[in-house]
Amino acid sequence: MKIENHKIEQLRELLSVESQNIVIVGHANPDGDAIGSSLAWGGILESKGQNVTYVVPNKFPYFLSWISGADKIHIYKDKKDDKIDTLIANADIIFCMDFNSIARIEALGEAIDSNTTAKRILIDHHLNPVSDFSMMFSYPDSSSTAFLVYTIISELYGADIISTPIAEAMYVGIMTDTGNFSFSNLTPELFKAVAKLVELGINIPKINTQVYNGYSADRVKLLGYALGSKMELMQVGDFEAAYISLSEEDMRSHNFQVGDSEGFVNYPLSIKGVSLSAMFSETRQFIRISLRSRGDVDVNLFAKKYFEGGGHKNAAGGKSMKGLEETIEYFKSAVNEFFK
Ligand code: 5GP
Ligand code: MN
Repeated sequence: MKIENHKIEQLRELLSVESQNIVIVGHANPDGDAIGSSLAWGGILESKGQNVTYVVPNKFPYFLSWISGADKIHIYKDKKDDKIDTLIANADIIFCMDFNSIARIEALGEAIDSNTTAKRILIDHHLNPVSDFSMMFSYPDSSSTAFLVYTIISELYGADIISTPIAEAMYVGIMTDTGNFSFSNLTPELFKAVAKLVELGINIPKINTQVYNGYSADRVKLLGYALGSKMELMQVGDFEAAYISLSEEDMRSHNFQVGDSEGFVNYPLSIKGVSLSAMFSETRQFIRISLRSRGDVDVNLFAKKYFEGGGHKNAAGGKSMKGLEETIEYFKSAVNEFFK
């Protein structure tokens, strides 16, 4: 990934004015990369004398709350929030982290669309960004937005400006979005960046434990139940897929907290031959769909075509307004049609 010089210079110029009101927004259902990249980028801007506010559309998983600065993040909660609306109205710059279209942040997006003249800058690695932005750092070849943030900071100020807590936030984004260095775009530059983060003082086993070994017992039991009782396999010719469904009752009976089902969708892909995995989670308003795949199986296109969604080639998501059972039937016929 090479960031064009003129873009870096434009950003440098924009940030040369101190004490600007800067709002940093991460995507809905924030994950390690949305939170990690937002806090890392904001941390640097704060160290450069900017007034930074962090906002996400809804709650983020509890296993990310230890990251330095996580306690400062405002949750918009999918409805109007006067305090945050005022911050947005008074913003000079809004950075949009780890998503590719204002429509992806729902009610918060409406507030941004209707309420402010701030410059909107995208920092993201999803495919097909929508041109809602005055400036775009869109690099789908980057394995995470956090790595993109590292690269931008290195170009702007040099990586030595990164403090240990900021390096930790970056590493969380890099680690979670690459599936602990097991997905695509694992470039030499990425490992050089990680080497630098280690030099800057991050403790990888500690971060790994905080993110992956910080679950509740209920979460681990829910995983067992999801795999043991709620996973189905299907086959279309040579093509093998698997899906997991979780009803509201499944979640309620396991004292579900936001983030508890994070990563479940990856497990079916550990079955030899399975190249598509889906998870359906029932919410009050709709069914949320998570998709993962291997190799050339393109779930970004699949999510776009059938589930009003998108994402990356091997990790995407979407939604369905049908009921859970009906959504599963629709999914099965979609798989039959798309992957036959
Ligand atoms: P997850 O399954 O972890 O929620 O999401 C996987 C990937 O797909 C993420 O990169 C996420 O941003 C993207 N994604 C999830 N849901 C949607 C959606 O409804 N629309 C679009 N465009 N992307 C989504
Ligand atoms: Mn990401």
